Amino acid sequence: MFLKRILKNDIKILKITSKNTANQIIVSIKMTEIYKSHWEKGVYKCSKCGKILFKSDSKFDSGTKWPSFRKALKEAIKTKPDYSLGMVRTEILCSNCKLHLGHLFNDGKVCGDPHTDAGDRYCVLSESLKFEKRI
Ligand SMILES: [Zn+2]
Repeated sequence: MFLKRILKNDIKILKITSKNTANQIIVSIKMTEIYKSHWEKGVYKCSKCGKILFKSDSKFDSGTKWPSFRKALKEAIKTKPDYSLGMVRTEILCSNCKLHLGHLFNDGKVCGDPHTDAGDRYCVLSESLKFEKRI
């Protein structure tokens, strides 16, 4: 009887924990994708320090869950090699506060950038950006 009660309580706790974890995952996914399909005219700033990093006219639909930009504003981004996950990638950081923004790839053309100069694709985490509308 006692054991049965403990098990019942454990199952309740497990159910509550699972539900919370699922909600956290959903919130995280929404945060990650907040600017994926965002096409208003304006600028994308660093979410930490407010430095302007990208303009909306360089954003394109890459078919990924990350907002992608063809180019960054001059001197807004620092790059460094990233050897994590068993790959060689180029990490991008805010030049002002060094916030991790995502990675720079050279697959713009493959990922749907319609411009003739397609090549670079700044693959950025939505949560590292803050949009400011400009007309
Ligand atoms: Zn910054």
